[in-house]
Amino acid sequence: MDASTTATEQENQCECSRYSVLVNLRKAANGDLEWDEELTTGCAATARKLFAQGHDAKLKSFLIRAGAAGHEVQRNEGGMTSVADAATHANRYSFGHMISRRNRARRSQGCRKGRAAGV
Ligand SMILES: [Zn+2]
Repeated sequence: MDASTTATEQENQCECSRYSVLVNLRKAANGDLEWDEELTTGCAATARKLFAQGHDAKLKSFLIRAGAAGHEVQRNEGGMTSVADAATHANRYSFGHMISRRNRARRSQGCRKGRAAGV
């Protein structure tokens, strides 16, 4: 009767928490991988659906920032890590088309601004 008490329903790790960016990932002299900084969405939420509420937007802005900075993004699911650019990851979701469109818009905007500044 009470739809809000669905505690028996399984909660999964929120989709946005699977993503991270390792900044300046490189191989160290001893062969180990090292990086300067790990960027994440900072999410520790669980979700009954793919995303915790509002976290599709959180992931979207994370991928937009990573894409704009030219970072490779890794996605970890059950110990398996896949690495791709932000737009490729974003294509899994309904907002995927917005990532590539926005990146294109940002680039052309930069050109226009550059030309305007030269006047
Ligand atoms: Zn999340």
